[in-house]
Amino acid sequence: MDTLMSGIDVLISEVGPRDGLQSITSVMPTDAKKAWIAAEAAAGVREVEVGSFVPAKLLPQMADTAEVVSYARTIKGLKVAALVPNFKGAEAAIAAGAHKITLPLSVSETHSLKNLRKTHEEVFEEVRQIVALIKTLPVDRRPQFEGSLSTAFGCTLEGLIPEVTVVKLGERLVALGCDEVGLADTTGYANPAQVKSMIKSIWAAVGRDKLTGIHIHNTRGLGLANVLAALDVGLTTFDSSLGGLGGCPFAPGASGNIVTEDLVFMLDSMGLKTGIDLAALLKVRDIVKAAVPDEMYGFTPDAGVPKGYVQGGQGWGLGAAKMAAE
Ligand SMILES: [Zn+2]
Repeated sequence: MDTLMSGIDVLISEVGPRDGLQSITSVMPTDAKKAWIAAEAAAGVREVEVGSFVPAKLLPQMADTAEVVSYARTIKGLKVAALVPNFKGAEAAIAAGAHKITLPLSVSETHSLKNLRKTHEEVFEEVRQIVALIKTLPVDRRPQFEGSLSTAFGCTLEGLIPEVTVVKLGERLVALGCDEVGLADTTGYANPAQVKSMIKSIWAAVGRDKLTGIHIHNTRGLGLANVLAALDVGLTTFDSSLGGLGGCPFAPGASGNIVTEDLVFMLDSMGLKTGIDLAALLKVRDIVKAAVPDEMYGFTPDAGVPKGYVQGGQGWGLGAAKMAAE
């Protein structure tokens, strides 16, 4: 088992600095990104996707990713992840020292052509080159390489992609040498039954150790329900974004990630250990708010924790329920 998982039940991977920031127009200053990442790590977050290695012309918000990766590497115990759209991005991510690189493969070929201007075969060629590059590195310097199946639960252009197609693409990624595949509900189309079915089918095809995490958006309000479904069948890694950054629920077409604060509250109140101090996490919002105001939301941050709530317990109300039953 990953040493980073020691002492926790669920690994929360914060993706706000990448998925959140790339979806909003304002550009967060590099120093604010660094302060944000450091504060989350201090609150107990063990993995952060800190940026994306895309051309600055396309996404000026991500222009400083190499610098942010180098900085994040200096934070003890933090796993530093980065998104790469192609081989060139992977080269840059490896040079900067990312511990984990994720390459998205849109299971909808129409979406892939429109966003990456690449067919599936062309994306597989990038995967092949990245795997070859990683193999040239000394074993202790090799990043973990994930192929992420994006639009896995449906695409805004093609609609539903058959589960069998998603599974076949996942098998191909593993066959080409990805350490694991990820599932991403890029469009917020997923429902809990579909999430369970997809995870089981991919496990049956490539093995349980090759799929451990899921990336969920809260576009239709099903984010935490989908987390619970994935948790129920046994997934243990969840992507989320502080303040659901990247999509305001009151804006049309909002597509924010699930809210890290709400996710931590749900898991902790269920008696599951995330290693994250919720009070400290809630304070991190001030850093982000100062740099990009008016972009964050979250139910737990707005409402506060329940009266008398103690973090890190056996589960909120569960002890009392047991006592009453005895
Ligand atoms: Zn996303």
